[in-house]
Amino acid sequence: MNKNQANNFTALWVKYSEYEIVEEKKVKYIKPTENAQYEVYDPFEIADEILVDILNIGKLVGEDKDVDKSILEFVNKYGLMGELTYLPLNNNLVYQKKVFLPKKNPITTKDVLPIEEYLEKFLVCDKKHRIQIFASKDKNGPIGISNNNEITANLFLNRGIEYNVVFSKGYSEQIQWIIEYAKYLYLIFADIEIYYQQDNDELKSALNMLIKTFKVSNLTCKIEMLEKASLVWDFNSLKQAIDTMLLLNETNERKTAKMCKHCGKAFSSQNIKAEYCSPQCRNQANVYKSRAKSKESEEQ
Ligand SMILES: [Zn+2]
Repeated sequence: MNKNQANNFTALWVKYSEYEIVEEKKVKYIKPTENAQYEVYDPFEIADEILVDILNIGKLVGEDKDVDKSILEFVNKYGLMGELTYLPLNNNLVYQKKVFLPKKNPITTKDVLPIEEYLEKFLVCDKKHRIQIFASKDKNGPIGISNNNEITANLFLNRGIEYNVVFSKGYSEQIQWIIEYAKYLYLIFADIEIYYQQDNDELKSALNMLIKTFKVSNLTCKIEMLEKASLVWDFNSLKQAIDTMLLLNETNERKTAKMCKHCGKAFSSQNIKAEYCSPQCRNQANVYKSRAKSKESEEQ
């Protein structure tokens, strides 16, 4: 998808300059490194790059390849997914003091968690930048989050209080969560390709059922006058932004993140006719085509 094609829209996310993989109780997490600095960027400026990168990780996962390094590279480029704010079904988590979660979620088997317990799931690795969660003196008042480190990232973006945690140096996500997400995203991407190439109506409707399961939940947007009327996505996470990118890409007549017809890799191209990710794949595909042709003429 290309940001400049149709609408003016803006969306911002925080990423740190460097991340690392750490292991806690045999589970692998990704978190910012001790001396990392935060920066703010607009993921939609580089939507195709993000989409192609995550889809190709998903393809590798499907092939049972080890993707830890690719995921670390991805996070170093674009930041963590923001699972903490992506998952909940309710808003204003900290004020409501509890979190309602979808039935199938990677974090817990429960449907509801107290906010403290929920936040702890994302603060497993960091002892030093410990974020304190405390109840307000007023029994019905909100709980508070004190944060001795990078609270400034959220001051800049002015998001809800739970983003103090998401944008902090203490915040971490399990690698496995990103693996599952990438795998699912590539599955949807590939199924849409297969759908187009398929003549069998039964298979097509089965694919359609699967593709329909993909949706962007909780998305809110508004119009703001930034020079021109602009669509401002209040997206709750990088993950929700990527969901939106896939949705816009797949429903665009001129989709720019495409699947290579030869090797299945995702690639980005502004050329509407581009079908292959590289000259190698185009050549290979041509060789197969001419072989199939000569076989046909032999058989006739
Ligand atoms: Zn290819």
